[in-house]
Amino acid sequence: MPGRSSHDFLRAGWLVRAGDDAAAAPLLQALVDEARGMPPGLMAEGWLLHGELLRRRGEDGTRSAARALELAERFADDGAVWLRRRARAEDLAGRPDAALPLLLRCHARQMASVRAALDARVDELAARLVDLHLRDENRQLRAHNQGLQDDVRQYSRLAETDALTGLPNRRALEAEFEARRGPGPLVLAVLDLDHFKRINDRFSHLVGDAVLRQAGALMAASLRAPDLLARLGGEEFVALAALPPDEAAGAFERVRRSLAEHAWGEIAEGLQVTVSIGVTAVSAGEDLIAALARADALLYRAKHEGRDRVVHDAG
Ligand code: GH3
Ligand code: MG
Ligand code: MG
Repeated sequence: MPGRSSHDFLRAGWLVRAGDDAAAAPLLQALVDEARGMPPGLMAEGWLLHGELLRRRGEDGTRSAARALELAERFADDGAVWLRRRARAEDLAGRPDAALPLLLRCHARQMASVRAALDARVDELAARLVDLHLRDENRQLRAHNQGLQDDVRQYSRLAETDALTGLPNRRALEAEFEARRGPGPLVLAVLDLDHFKRINDRFSHLVGDAVLRQAGALMAASLRAPDLLARLGGEEFVALAALPPDEAAGAFERVRRSLAEHAWGEIAEGLQVTVSIGVTAVSAGEDLIAALARADALLYRAKHEGRDRVVHDAG
């Protein structure tokens, strides 16, 4: 195939379509003469263009058509491109009746492939929609789930909080006692407001409530960070502190003073509030009930000895 390439075929095609027959004719002649060894599709194109050009000039294109058909017979597949070439060749050979069904088949073939491409695109879009929908549903579920988890956290916080004082309640104390029972020292104190019934009676239940809130806040503030103050019920509080017994007495003395020295007159004129405290060291493996019972007995002694004092079992 000396010096001829597929570009020459393209150029010849353009020239024929542009009607520049003068330039196209020698190029095509050279191509069909020298094109042996070219891909059969290109050779068929060359013969078709050659024949179409001859016909346009009023000459006989049937020989070129026959060469194109010969190639088609040997190499044509069932695709639209070869069907169209064969239709052109039949038309060129003066057989439009043979060309028409080929063109119709070519058309059907092209429509089928367009439809297949469209179907594939529709399937792809549908899959993307499903994916987007699922992702959106997933997002909603996650948000819903997060909301439920927040609710659960809030309810469990509420379930462990005393509504009046905002302090941990008995349930929280039980959990904390379990959590803190370890190798280190631990003391438990029961703190009971003195003559609280009289406060309710003399001032009002409302003042009594305000006293409970204020006393809770003062006592919690005078304990140190990891220590816990819970309201057990009524005017009775329980503290857990990670202290050796000999330091516990001093710590709870500070708690006692935080009430005794507070300016209660701000809540009600003439109001005075004190607390009695029983402090006991929790021994290893002991349960809450046992420690509470011992602290209660010490508290009872504090009440008996005149209230507003700390009684402990250290030393
Ligand atoms: P003591 O010094 O011996 O502890 O005497 P007390 O009066 O503090 O003890 P008592 O157990 O006789 O009375 C406790 C009172 O606390 C009785 C009850 O009406 C009152 N009380 C219990 N819970 C609440 C509450 O939530 N709010 C108010 N205002 N009073 C309460
Ligand atoms: Mg009391
Ligand atoms: Mg009491």
